[in-house]
Amino acid sequence: MREAMGNAFVPGAVALDPAEAAMIERRGRVLGPAYRLQYERPLHIVRGEGVHLTDANGVRYLDAYNNVPSVGHAHPRVVEALTRQAATLNTHTRYLHENILAYAERLLATMPDALAHVMFTCTGSEANDLAGRIAQAHTGGTGFIVTRYAYHGVTEVVSRLSPCLGEGVQQGPHVRLVAPPASGVADVGARFAEGVRRAIADLEAHGIRPAALLVDTVFTSDGNYVDPAGFLGPAVEAIREAGGLFIADEVQPGFGRTGAHFWGFGRHGIVPDMITMGKPMGNGHPMGAVAGRREPIASFANQVRYFNTFGGNPVSCAVGLAVLDVITDEGLMANAADVGAHLHAGLDALSGRCPTLGERRVAGLACAVDVVDAEGRPDPVAATRIVNGLRDRQVLISISGIEHATLKIRPPLVFQRAHADQLLEALEGVLRA
Ligand code: PMP
Repeated sequence: MREAMGNAFVPGAVALDPAEAAMIERRGRVLGPAYRLQYERPLHIVRGEGVHLTDANGVRYLDAYNNVPSVGHAHPRVVEALTRQAATLNTHTRYLHENILAYAERLLATMPDALAHVMFTCTGSEANDLAGRIAQAHTGGTGFIVTRYAYHGVTEVVSRLSPCLGEGVQQGPHVRLVAPPASGVADVGARFAEGVRRAIADLEAHGIRPAALLVDTVFTSDGNYVDPAGFLGPAVEAIREAGGLFIADEVQPGFGRTGAHFWGFGRHGIVPDMITMGKPMGNGHPMGAVAGRREPIASFANQVRYFNTFGGNPVSCAVGLAVLDVITDEGLMANAADVGAHLHAGLDALSGRCPTLGERRVAGLACAVDVVDAEGRPDPVAATRIVNGLRDRQVLISISGIEHATLKIRPPLVFQRAHADQLLEALEGVLRA
């Protein structure tokens, strides 16, 4: 099974500290066998601050992996906003409250005017699930097109749209998988759109009308396909011609990660019919949302009402506002662009010295590097060794891509050039060892 590859913990593979081994045993007992731990030697983290995580022994790690705490672990302004509102009131969206209005207005102001409404959830999975239902309600279609190694979440609807979960999940007759965008070729957009058109034709040949094309606009789990900016245009055209909608999953690129744009779709010069978001939205507090054009949301509202007990509650909205304030006040988009470019240049230089590093695909602080063998083929064993080697040098990254051979570097947006240098130095050390 694919899970055994990558950087998931494999019981018995290495000797562990007895206290950690005892926790792992307890964890298996109470949480059961479906969960996975990261790294050959799992981490027991007890504290986070900025770009650093500290383990139970007081060892500090550079976090170049976690995109959720995007304005930094335990950011004081976010913590303050959360605790102040929690000490005042927490209810739900069946009462009037200023926070949800202020937050919805601020959030919509980051998007093109066509994205007119926002509906709140607690997770990215719920957001994609809701967007999928809205697309079906609006188009009357049931078919979905996603990329070959996409991840969109855990509900019944979106787990079927998440082939990265493995062969144990049946996609179902209404789902078609397309190859992620090619890289290093001239006609990336045309090729990707061609795959989408073939998928549409196949759905139609089976009597299934397409509801939507759903993609992560930086294709994180496929391996971070980001260039050339603009390549999504022809695929969006293709799905619309077939009567379907284009849903941009912004859970990964949203909230400034790519540096140049607040949302990943902005790099492509397109305006989606809906966008979904989550993870960095609440900097660790569970939040998600769908923003969309008026028409699909009206079609949905004609058929069904919407209420989500926790989505959009006053505490979450206070947190969301604080996150937006920090992104602006600390210039985190510009920082992502600057530090991302610095990291990219460092990785390019390092790949010249270390041929194990193959193609680099970087947009701001969404960064991926292929690990290859002497013949240039994906090398998942070396990728796993690198990720675990970095962990042993107190630098945290992960792996992505269907081959499990792509280094996924996705730090909080407060990552600085000095942190990038520390990562590059540790990576060179691991590669030389
Ligand atoms: N979409 C994408 C692109 C994601 O990366 C994730 C989470 N990894 C999700 C959706 C699901 O979000 P959540 O875990 O909050 O349900």
